[in-house]
Amino acid sequence: MFDEIPDMAAKRAELTPDRLAFADTTSGRDWSFRQINEAADATAAGLRAQGLAEGDRLAILCQNRAEFFVALFACQKTGIILCPLNWRQPALELTETIEQVGISLLLADTAFQDTAQKIAAQMDVPLLSIEKDLAGWIDADAPPVTQPIPAERPWYLLFTSGTTGLPKSVVQTARMAWANTVNIGQAIDMTSDDRAVCFLPLFHTAGINLYSLPVFLTGGASTILPKFDAAAVTELLASGQITQFFAVPAVYQELSLLRQIGGLDWSRIRCGCGGAPLPEPLIRFYGELGAKVLNGMGMTETGPTVFLMDPEHATQKIGSVGKPQSLAEVRLDSVPEGAEGVGELLLRGPGITPGYFANPEATAAAFTSDGWLATGDVARRDADGYYFIVDRIKDMFISGGENVYPAEVERVLHTHPAVLEAAVIGVPDAKWGEVGAAFLLLRPGATLAPDTLRPWCRDRLASYKVPAHARIVTDLPRTAAGKVCKPDLLKAFQHD
Ligand code: ATP
Ligand code: MG
Repeated sequence: MFDEIPDMAAKRAELTPDRLAFADTTSGRDWSFRQINEAADATAAGLRAQGLAEGDRLAILCQNRAEFFVALFACQKTGIILCPLNWRQPALELTETIEQVGISLLLADTAFQDTAQKIAAQMDVPLLSIEKDLAGWIDADAPPVTQPIPAERPWYLLFTSGTTGLPKSVVQTARMAWANTVNIGQAIDMTSDDRAVCFLPLFHTAGINLYSLPVFLTGGASTILPKFDAAAVTELLASGQITQFFAVPAVYQELSLLRQIGGLDWSRIRCGCGGAPLPEPLIRFYGELGAKVLNGMGMTETGPTVFLMDPEHATQKIGSVGKPQSLAEVRLDSVPEGAEGVGELLLRGPGITPGYFANPEATAAAFTSDGWLATGDVARRDADGYYFIVDRIKDMFISGGENVYPAEVERVLHTHPAVLEAAVIGVPDAKWGEVGAAFLLLRPGATLAPDTLRPWCRDRLASYKVPAHARIVTDLPRTAAGKVCKPDLLKAFQHD
């Protein structure tokens, strides 16, 4: 795509110095592009004074705040690699994850001092505070840094969601950030007049790359909330400022239960969704409020934007993730190019990661010999070139010799009037090898007699797909990205 690009914060400060880049609701401070860039220059000097150099890893432990982006751009300027940590994990778990990447310094919010001190002691690295040390650097004068950035240089590391196993550390580069900006920017017509809200955790790809970073690179602004809070998000949406809204299905689900959501004016807000299957009743629910929730698909490994549904066809192609965006190449394994069919989704293009950090074995296993990322997801392409995510290969189970994709069963269960959310897994069975077990969250106030579910399913699904077990639950185990954690469901099933 390109070998070098200009320093992103410096370029934005040159183009739109005085426009608003971030409005941080925790500190109440507004940051212009110039202020972010100057703070990043000063932080770059501070980090160098700590002895950090290109290639070293800097871990950061905080909820969403503008200083996160200051550290991010300081890292781009110096080649230090930012490693955002999941603040929902305890010190012990974090230490295990950090051991995968090795760090030289930990920068933490005072709210996480206890955890940070334990990690720093365990890893034997210095601990600095965002409120004291980083703030001190930001207030000091520092020379501007404006050298070109190698497009392929590791910039930050993001862990995958850990939905199917241990999270993997994925290298993110400036090239990927630009490719994602083109992909998502064109898909949603992003402009410098856009205002996004940043509430998904910045340690995951959706938090940082949808839409805060691409909005920044386009010259728009983001309002930063420290974390997801349904009331605060709704209040912001009601303020009329927000034009771009991206969330995972679990967030749309939670918001749909709030009475205020029906009174919002959705006409100015463009809504994207991704990360997990988007239940069709939810699309229809928002549709009735006048909001078009566009389903998209991406991965931590892909920057993330690969697919996004176009608004024009959203109502005709319900359930589709749309078409591959401008800088994404897509193939379906064993399906002739352009033809209808079902196969493993293979991806290529400038938005794709060079690999997992310091893990050549995992990287080699993820790519085909001719350079395609094997996603582990099965997808279907229809006659018009629209794609539908069928399911993860790992989640498929075999019942009586027939393949069952749990996502298909979940889609049917989601149409049951009493069901708010369903999660299906394959469990061992003496007769059929494996059978389905459904975990059901009911709508508030709804009831469901378990013996009525089977006949209801039999009318809608082949018999081998009908769950043999059904449990009504009050909660589903989720990752920090809001996805249902199926290995935990299997453990829960086996324990009972
Ligand atoms: P891990 O790789 O650690 O098991 P993960 O795959 O959930 O976790 P992410 O990179 O956050 O980590 O998620 C990418 C995956 O999310 C995709 O491979 C796909 O399985 C799923 N996904 C993303 N968008 C959609 C969507 N719109 N519909 C269905 N599945 C989706
Ligand atoms: Mg994955």
